[in-house]
Parts: sequence; C-alpha cells; structure tokens
Amino acid sequence: MSAMPAPMRDPFGRAITYLRVSVTDRCDLRCVYCMAEEMHFLPKKDVLSLEEIERLSAAFIALGTRKIRLTGGEPLVRRDVMRLIERLGARLGAGEGRGLDELTLTTNGTQLGRLAPGLAAAGMRRINVSLDTLDPAKFTMMTRWGKIGPTLDGIAAAKAAGLAVKINAVAMKGVNEDEFDDMIAWCGQQGFDLCLIETMPMGEISEDRTEQYLPLSLVRSRLRRRWTLDETDYRTGGPARYFVVRETGRRIGFITPMTHNFCESCNRVRLTCTGTLYMCLGQDDQADLRAVLRAGADDAALEAAIREAISRKPKGHDFIIDRRHDRPSVGRHMSMTGG
Ligand code: SAM
Ligand code: SF4
Repeated sequence: MSAMPAPMRDPFGRAITYLRVSVTDRCDLRCVYCMAEEMHFLPKKDVLSLEEIERLSAAFIALGTRKIRLTGGEPLVRRDVMRLIERLGARLGAGEGRGLDELTLTTNGTQLGRLAPGLAAAGMRRINVSLDTLDPAKFTMMTRWGKIGPTLDGIAAAKAAGLAVKINAVAMKGVNEDEFDDMIAWCGQQGFDLCLIETMPMGEISEDRTEQYLPLSLVRSRLRRRWTLDETDYRTGGPARYFVVRETGRRIGFITPMTHNFCESCNRVRLTCTGTLYMCLGQDDQADLRAVLRAGADDAALEAAIREAISRKPKGHDFIIDRRHDRPSVGRHMSMTGG
C-alpha cells in the first residue's frame, strides 16, 4: 500500500488539505443573499466536464488533499453529478489513487429525496443542508420562489439513508432572526447540528446588504436567554465556532467572517465550475487550471500549476462592507465559489 501523500504547505505553513469544488453555477432557487433574481449563467463550454473535475480532484488528492466538498450553485441539479460522486467516492480510503478521508456536499436539499440513498452508497457520511427558516411563506420569500416541502422531504430522506445532517442557516436581520429558538428545538428533535452564518458581501444581488447584516455575537447573547451554550473545542476543519446546546445535546456553530478572523487556521482552497482556483474566499487572486488542463498538461504539469497557486495563498481576507456605497467587497457571487 502506498503512503499517504504529504500535504502541500502555503507560505504561512498552513497545510492545504481541503478542496471545495463548485460543480455548477446553476441553481433551482434564488436565495436573496446569494443571487440576483435574473442571473446569467455560464455557457456550457466554459464549465468543466465531470471528467475534468475528476482529473483536477485526483491531482489535488495526489498532493495531499484529504477532504473534498462539492458545492455550487446547487450541486445536485447538475446532470449526471452522481457519476462524479461515485468516482470520487471510490477514492475514499487508502491505497493507489485514493487518499480521501471525506467526501461531502453542501446542498439546498431539493433533490435529496431522489439522491440521498446514492450519496450514502458512494461513501458520504455527512452533508450540509441549507435551510434558513421553517416557515413555508418565509422560505418562499427568502428563496424568491422555492417551496419548503421538497427540502424538508429531502432532509428526511438523508436522515433515513443514514447521513448525518448539519443545517446551515444564514442569519438575516428582520427576516429569520426570531426563528432561531425554534430551529434549535427542531434540530434537537431531529438529531441535527445547526450552523448560523453571517451574510458575506459577495456579488451584486440587487438588495441592500447593510440592511441584511445581523452580527452573530448579538444572536448568541439572545439565544443564551433560553439555552445553555457550553463551550467546546469541536472543529470540523471549517471556520465555525461550536457550542453544545445543553438542553438538546446537539451542537450549534457560528460562522462569523465579518466579526471574527478565521483565516489563521485556513486549510482550504476553492475551485469554481470553470476551473478557476481561488486561494481565498475573500480575495481575487486566482489560478486558471482549466487553461492548464485544456492545453493538454500531463499530471506533473498540472500538479506544478497547483503548487504554484498554493504558493500564492494570501494570509487572510479583508471583507468590509463599503457602507457608503453598499458595494460588495468581492465582486463574484457565492454561487461561483461555493461558500
Ligand atoms: N446551493 C447549495 C446550498 O445552498 O447549500 C450550495 C451552494 S451555497 C452558495 C453554499 C452556502 O453559502 C449556503 O449555505 C448559503 O446559505 C451560503 N451563502 C450564499 N450566499 C451567501 C452570502 N452572501 N453570505 C453568507 N452565506 C452565503
Ligand atoms: Fe442556490 Fe444555494 Fe445560492 Fe440558495 S444559497 S441561491 S440554494 S446556490
């Protein structure tokens, strides 16, 4: 059996072991904080084929990547995505061409009713499902046209398939801020962890960002009126800070990119569906791996291009909402880099 490859290190000594891959920029919903109502999606020829995504993933695994998360857009609306998931699932474990510890997914859940059993069969163990509200009318408002039914059914199907589910909710001022007590209770009953996320200033969305922004420090102090939040050093390799809700026994995480610097322990890079590698969610520097692939690079040349990109990984982001002009500090949408 071959030894696991040593991880790549960036200029600050951080081991880069986590790749997020956006498999499509398309989505069946239009969440108000994520997309504009009228989105122009990319032409097909610009988007990596599933084979190209697999080849790039294999190169990252050969360079010590241990965890891959598929995201988007909505990853499960891409046709034949299960084929990619099965092929990446075959790289879980040790041995030739393998080396992944974890293959996972962030999804809005609408397709899980159909696909959850296949995800479990491919070797997925846990998934993140985005659900910002339990109120059907609010769900439709926040997603612009979605219905809550398919997402709730999808979540139930994931649970039935044996997948651990973490619910992600973006906290929005005046929209779902009165619901977090109910969501904690519901997650407790269902056996799900919950993660609250602050809105990040990414992409033009035709709404006012400063109106949406709700600091999670405030949410946390409000939650403490009803729940006992016990500190824990639990980490998932992500930026969330977790507490255990004593009354339910489940975890609650807070992702606070705007108020708390999580860059120090950053172990990840992000690949868009067009093959652009972003070394930081909050910076524009990138590497065009599609050009390298389509120029016919062999494995050594591809790996060299990836190493070169990692050597440019910046120390951290600098998100700031330009409050005077309400302009995003990063022009691309989250659906491009996948969050
Ligand atoms: N469609 C899938 C989903 O919704 O889970 C995966 C892609 S989505 C871009 C990934 C995550 O990013 C979701 O949890 C979503 O709520 C979050 N997100 C999108 N735009 C955001 C923003 N501007 N600020 C904070 N989180 C955002
Ligand atoms: Fe689609 Fe996910 Fe963005 Fe919502 S957050 S519009 S589900 S990509």
